[in-house]
Amino acid sequence: MINVNKPFLPKSDEYQRYVDQIFNINWLTNNGPLVNEFELKIKDYLKINHFLFVSNGTIALQFAIKALDLKGEIITTPFSYVATTSSIVWEGCTPIFVDIDSKSFNINPSKIEEKINENTSAILATHVYGNPCDIDQIQEIAEKHNLKVIYDASHCFGTQYKNRSVFEYGDISTTSFHATKLLHSIEGGGVFSNDPQLIKKIASMRNFGHDGENKFSGLGINGKNSEFHAAMGLCNLNYIDNILEKRKSDSFRYNLWFDKSEDISLLKVNNITSFNYAYYPIVLKTKKICEKIYKDLKENNIYARRYFYPLLSDLDYVENSNDNIVANEITEKVLCLPLYYQLTNEEIDMIARIILRTLNN
Ligand SMILES: *Cc1c(COP(=O)(O)O)cnc(C)c1O
Repeated sequence: MINVNKPFLPKSDEYQRYVDQIFNINWLTNNGPLVNEFELKIKDYLKINHFLFVSNGTIALQFAIKALDLKGEIITTPFSYVATTSSIVWEGCTPIFVDIDSKSFNINPSKIEEKINENTSAILATHVYGNPCDIDQIQEIAEKHNLKVIYDASHCFGTQYKNRSVFEYGDISTTSFHATKLLHSIEGGGVFSNDPQLIKKIASMRNFGHDGENKFSGLGINGKNSEFHAAMGLCNLNYIDNILEKRKSDSFRYNLWFDKSEDISLLKVNNITSFNYAYYPIVLKTKKICEKIYKDLKENNIYARRYFYPLLSDLDYVENSNDNIVANEITEKVLCLPLYYQLTNEEIDMIARIILRTLNN
């Protein structure tokens, strides 16, 4: 069976060495040495100043909303994973959906301003598939209307925008280190900001608001991560350059098959981006063809995924909006193809052949 994704695993003795270390000092969680080491190494690798390792990418989003003290309406994208919207609702705010751009699949900045009113407090946008939003334009709109900007950068480890880590943009960026993501710590998430005050606030929030043993500096929750998770993150970080390189060459191999097909459109990444090749989406001409390809692949034990379907604006706990015309169209016709470290050239070729055969029938 070929799934859309297979978690990366380091050599087991590499993980075991960390486990022995954890057993030796008997420090399992609560900001232990491996969590610290992971935070330092991530900052070093990305050449950034601030990063907090938290329990998962969803609580990272909740921290961002809470720390910025957001209220009322948050402008967001309908085309993302459910956590982007659920965290807004969970924090007591209202998601207001803005349609996506047909090339990048990211929120369309030119449609944002018409949704801004006196209740709008922020823009929460996802860099879909690891491909950055139009950050400059979003920043300009945010400054003009005095809004905060949060980026759900869960797909973005390794992506650079204008020669800097994409995590450096927005008031806060968040990421996920879930097992299915490009770099993972089994479960895990990250919070990034260039504002040391925000980082300090979230560091306290993730530890119940503790300020020393018997004092609390504000409302907190448990958003910590453990030594075992940090250990997996550290092991995997050693392979990150190979992981990025492998995804790039796999994507190029798919491209060779699909470049000339008039029935398939591929993701276009702008030239100020150094892309991480986190996903390999293809957009078909019609919903019917998309479903046929999905089915034919499945009959061959190959599981593509409809990222992202359904649209978040169709969730039953949000106010449904039906003016997301582009998003509505893309969500019916997009498939993400298998892309992971252990995938072989032969498998890529087989997947591509099945798709092209379906298209030519
Ligand atoms: C994976 C993902 C999340 C959630 O991350 P978890 O670590 O699983 O909580 C949020 N947003 C997007 C876009 C994601 O892909």
